[in-house]
Amino acid sequence: MVINGDFIKPGNLEVFPGCMFSFKTRRLVDRVRPLQHIPGAGYLFVRPRIDTRTADVRNDPLDYSSWEFVDQDNPEKLLGLIQPIHSYVSIDEAHFFGKGFIRVLERLLLDGKNVGIAGLDLDFRGEPFGPMPEILCMANEVYKGSAVCKYTSCGAPATRTQRLINGKPAHYDSPLVVIEGEAHYEPRCLRHHEVPGKPKIDEDYLEVLFQQNRN
Ligand SMILES: [Zn+2]
Repeated sequence: MVINGDFIKPGNLEVFPGCMFSFKTRRLVDRVRPLQHIPGAGYLFVRPRIDTRTADVRNDPLDYSSWEFVDQDNPEKLLGLIQPIHSYVSIDEAHFFGKGFIRVLERLLLDGKNVGIAGLDLDFRGEPFGPMPEILCMANEVYKGSAVCKYTSCGAPATRTQRLINGKPAHYDSPLVVIEGEAHYEPRCLRHHEVPGKPKIDEDYLEVLFQQNRN
């Protein structure tokens, strides 16, 4: 395995979290790009099988026909794809992987792989998505990205993913995973992130606390 200063750091976990349209995949790919020019530095791109949306990344000069797809419910199968030459393992859309993913990640790091992970840190409800909280806790380096809020003329930095069904915000109780096409997604700031049915702070109780503190 090649070790090359800033480009390949054995056992190092780098995470690229963010909402949709925050260029997570692009930033992960850009991280790997210099490795093309380092002799003997192999890399592997992995996605969960649920994510069939590959056209956006195949237009890139790197050879993305080599993306490997792994069953998100059996993440240990990822380990069977790893070859000694792979210095860097890139994993995209990691929020879709099941719980066993964390053990797989630990194994990769213990084996000295430099691992890069991109994924949605928050789901459409604005709540932590799948294994992302644990992944972020394990990270050596975190590069969080943001998009631009698409709500009318807002334009503020967006950290949330808005799900729209027939132009209307999806209800809190709707399924966690709905692929693009059946739903429309756009980046929103916290102020404009709409989730009908999401539990709210009890305003009456807050008022009671406020009055108590006053006296
Ligand atoms: Zn906004």
